[in-house]
Amino acid sequence: MVSIGFIGLGNMGRPMARNLLTGGHVVKGFDLEPAKLRAAESDGVIRADSVAAAVTDADIVISMLPAGQHVREVYLSADGVLGSAKAGALLIDSSTIDVATARNVAAAAAKAGFEMLDAPVSGGVAGAEAGSLTFMVGGNDGASRRATPVLAVMGRAIIHAGPSGSGQAAKICNNMILGITMIGVAEAFALADRLGLERQKLFDVASKSSGQCWALTSYCPVPGPVPASPANRGYAPGFAASMMLKDLRLAQEAAAAFGAATPLGAEATALYTLFSNSGRENTDFSGIFEMIVGK
Ligand code: NAD
Repeated sequence: MVSIGFIGLGNMGRPMARNLLTGGHVVKGFDLEPAKLRAAESDGVIRADSVAAAVTDADIVISMLPAGQHVREVYLSADGVLGSAKAGALLIDSSTIDVATARNVAAAAAKAGFEMLDAPVSGGVAGAEAGSLTFMVGGNDGASRRATPVLAVMGRAIIHAGPSGSGQAAKICNNMILGITMIGVAEAFALADRLGLERQKLFDVASKSSGQCWALTSYCPVPGPVPASPANRGYAPGFAASMMLKDLRLAQEAAAAFGAATPLGAEATALYTLFSNSGRENTDFSGIFEMIVGK
């Protein structure tokens, strides 16, 4: 049994904390929103009224926050994690944030005597609920090994990607592939429609040919070929376009900061901006098919 301080009990954090409880750990949690805190309390999380109160006794601190600014605030502010956690606590940030913030906060943690990992996830809310997330871990080997038994309660795959920031790097590279390939698959179906090629026939061919990819075979953006994909339920998310756009923008920021050429990533960012600005930011990201066919 490990004593865990959990900060950020939103869509992802709440089910992750619930799985930690099921795994026999003690979880003390804090969220700025009282309703989120109450909901987690009803699951068995011990309610804390501040970040400091949630982490003072914790062996491991886990945070699941919206963006880099929230992570800086939670860790670096005067009554934040670095000023309140007990000596020897392991700090794990599972939010999806920019690589630079992940590295800077981990460096500040090291200076304060703490080991810190960036450990963003893929798998979405369904994966958080099922305890089947993939964790992409950045930080030193020892800290990664120490975190693994606890992460394994919330996830099925735990991949140590390299030193600090590598988890975030892996996450944004992966999601840039996904954004680009989803648009490619959507364009192919749009072209097939114009050519009078049945959608199912394109799927049958491409899923067994060199066009095969996850966006096609697991998350097909047209209704029919993959019954579980959001296209079959009016593009209810799933993975909202706003989330995809956030990750694509993080990838573009990183590309600009580190001098990588990512022209298709830039184009995907522009297309998802258009899609979101058309009022569809809460639509599943595969709904971009509809924008491409002019709906
Ligand atoms: P969310 O907005 O539902 O939850 C974030 C929570 O953090 C909120 O409840 C908010 O009140 C709380 N918070 C913000 N600032 C705080 C502070 N200073 N102190 C305490 N609590 C604070 O977001 P989410 O969907 O749970 O996503 C969390 C992270 O996980 C994001 O970085 C997101 O990109 C990433 N992620 C989400 C998904 C998904 O499908 N939802 C999938 C993979 C990764």
